[in-house]
Amino acid sequence: MEKMIIVGTGCAGLTAAVYAARANFAPLVLEGHEPGGQLSTTTLVENFPGFPQGIEGPELIMGMKAQAERFGARFEYATVTEFEPAGGHVRLKLDDKWVETETLVIASGASAKWLGLPREKELVGHGLTSCATCDGAFYRNVPVCVVGGGDSACEEATFLTRFASKVYLIHRRDSLRASKIMAERAINHPKVEMVWNSAPVEYLTDTEGEMRGVVLQDTVTGEKRELEVKCVFVAIGHTPNTGPFKGKLDMDADGYLLQRQGTHTNIPGVFAAGDVADRTYRQAITAAGQGCAAALDAERYMSHHG
Ligand code: NAP
Repeated sequence: MEKMIIVGTGCAGLTAAVYAARANFAPLVLEGHEPGGQLSTTTLVENFPGFPQGIEGPELIMGMKAQAERFGARFEYATVTEFEPAGGHVRLKLDDKWVETETLVIASGASAKWLGLPREKELVGHGLTSCATCDGAFYRNVPVCVVGGGDSACEEATFLTRFASKVYLIHRRDSLRASKIMAERAINHPKVEMVWNSAPVEYLTDTEGEMRGVVLQDTVTGEKRELEVKCVFVAIGHTPNTGPFKGKLDMDADGYLLQRQGTHTNIPGVFAAGDVADRTYRQAITAAGQGCAAALDAERYMSHHG
């Protein structure tokens, strides 16, 4: 029986791990499909307090992990496939084995959304991606596009100007959702061309199955046109990773876990922190704050329950 299992190694999970480890719980921390969460695929983080010059996302994550390990957190690569409450504690199926824990902190984050166009799955890795940091350098001196209008889309478009000959930023409306500073940085970059009121409706491939462009539809007039690009970077937001908890933990219509008091879920001993439960702020620092709160809530729960 584990005292505490933490699902996820993004900002929320790792902060929970630092707090729980320092409280001598030696938490078992599960790294799933995307170790390090969204920060591990971002570039410079300029708004995490304490780093006046900014800090690279992966560096921030590695520092948090080292800090948690220093105090006794244990890390394991495993994915939760099933979850069941079991009379005062919780059972989790990790790939092919079951484990039991007194408390569970779910900090499994959120994963990139896709456009839902035909052949999307097979094109990932052949000119379709959701991660500019991972794949941008493969597309040097060729035109690429980013789809989306939020901070992610602007950040990716600006980042891609380091490599691409041109970056089209395709947005379905005529104004960006992104914060002013990120929007201006993208819009004012000479390599970025805004494509307003447009949505990709088809991916175009060459004879070798590699991306050669997209068919864009004007969201106002309905007109269609082709845009030649070698890679499409989709940056249209995220979906919370709550699959194994469906039907057992309370969540909203989009699958975000619902917190009751503090980080408590509807099942005693189970806590939620970070993007998996936060559709409002979704920042590294708010996720870290929630991770801290969840570890403290779990610690108090254990002392109240002997
Ligand atoms: P977001 O803010 O939810 O923006 C998603 C964008 O994609 C919106 O512009 C949306 O259009 C568009 N979109 C959604 N579904 C679409 C579809 N099916 N087809 C075409 N377009 C679609 O997501 P995000 O940009 O990933 O940002 C998430 C959070 O992380 C935000 O709080 C953001 O501030 C934060 N963030 C911060 C930084 C930073 O500070 N360094 C970097 C990245 C993200 P509409 O506008 O029309 O809805």
